[in-house]
Amino acid sequence: MHDVAIIGAGIIGLAVAAALQDDGRQVLLLDRRGVAQETSRGNAGALAFSDILPLASPGIMRQAPRWLLDPLGPLAIPPAYFPTILPWLMRFWRASRPNRADASLAAQAGLMALAVAETPGMLDRAGAGHMVRRDGSLQLYESEAELAAVMPGWQARARHGIAFEHVRGPRLAELQPGLHPRLVAGTFVPGWHTVSDPYDVACRLADRVTARGGQIETRAVLRVAAAEGGVQVKFADGTTLLAHRAVIAAGAWSKPLAQGLGDRIPLETERGYNTTLPPGAFDLRRQLIFGGHGFVATPLSTGLRIGGAVELGGLKLPPNMARADAMLRRAAAFLPGLRTEGGQQWMGFRPSLPDSLPVIGPASATPHVVYAFGHGHLGLTQAAATGRIVADLIAGRSPPIPLGPFRPTRF
Ligand SMILES: Cc1cc2nc3c(=O)[nH]c(=O)nc-3n(C[C@H](O)[C@H](O)[C@H](O)COP(=O)(O)OP(=O)(O)OC[C@H]3O[C@@H](n4cnc5c(N)ncnc54)[C@H](O)[C@@H]3O)c2cc1C
Repeated sequence: MHDVAIIGAGIIGLAVAAALQDDGRQVLLLDRRGVAQETSRGNAGALAFSDILPLASPGIMRQAPRWLLDPLGPLAIPPAYFPTILPWLMRFWRASRPNRADASLAAQAGLMALAVAETPGMLDRAGAGHMVRRDGSLQLYESEAELAAVMPGWQARARHGIAFEHVRGPRLAELQPGLHPRLVAGTFVPGWHTVSDPYDVACRLADRVTARGGQIETRAVLRVAAAEGGVQVKFADGTTLLAHRAVIAAGAWSKPLAQGLGDRIPLETERGYNTTLPPGAFDLRRQLIFGGHGFVATPLSTGLRIGGAVELGGLKLPPNMARADAMLRRAAAFLPGLRTEGGQQWMGFRPSLPDSLPVIGPASATPHVVYAFGHGHLGLTQAAATGRIVADLIAGRSPPIPLGPFRPTRF
């Protein structure tokens, strides 16, 4: 009998494993592709601690129609997938109403405060503390009107104690030289961090898990079920194993595993794209956020990563790398001098719930299975916090924040 089986070795599964090991538990990570080969591999590397505004918000509902008009714009829904995603969109729309969005914001702020507290320790213990860049982020605007339109969001962040500075002129140029003059203002957030490369961070965590006696196996899980005294994990090859506890951290692929345990969770994927240019493609001083265009530019040790966007296209449609090209072209317009050749393109599957909050809590069928998925745009940022909560649940301790907003049965 294994102690704790964790399905998924992305950043969430790895952080859960690390937290359980801190509690003295034995962990077995099961991933059909190996360590961080999916979404956690190629993301934008932000520890986006100030990103407490839910995507489902009145603001996005105002932006969405304009964005949808551009087939390669920040938000796209491939027509073939529209009927499938419609129920999720309806839930997203309901979650965007002001009172619901306020509740999501409060929950997100609580989880984020926990992320701020837990992340440095997790990274330090894994020997990855030096991989964090603490130079903040700079969100950029093409007009004063664009800044004015997002001001309510900044006021909400201020109410939650987040520090920022609106900048223009020489201060803007000092924070990032070489911007196109049409970028007239910015918001600098000093408490926003980035990592040198998200894949390197995941590998460091995985190394630490195995160094402490954890096992990582490349195996595809078909089903997880309650069993006498624990949990049975059934693999795609027909074999099974037993564990005292299991954690489902299979990112965007968690839905059928939860469904097998009686939980119908409206998990969808927001596909995102980027291009990683060779190091030296631009003298980027910190992560730049082009909020009006739905992409960011991140300085990594492995290069300069440009991308973002949301494509609500499910798990099966082939990637449309024209989206990565489009964001790179826009970045070149904002950053004259950007060398755009030699890039590597990537698409990842953000695991997303319609209220922009993850699912963290026990399965309906058995308290021996805990869910930890659906972190959307914020999985790297919230991994350590999620690990802490899951370890508390498994140890029978009361978690540091109220879990009501994250419960699997909320839909
Ligand atoms: C373009 C883009 C940019 C992003 N930028 C950021 C950012 O800057 N900051 C941030 O915090 N977040 C960011 N994110 C979001 C972040 O990458 C995700 O929230 C996070 O990676 C999710 O981690 P995960 O472990 O839940 O999922 P994944 O990394 O997808 O891991 C899930 C794992 O489960 C495995 N799996 C699935 N099904 C099974 C099965 N049946 N059996 C066995 N294994 C299985 C998969 O192989 C996979 O390895 C970004 C995402 C994208 C797409």
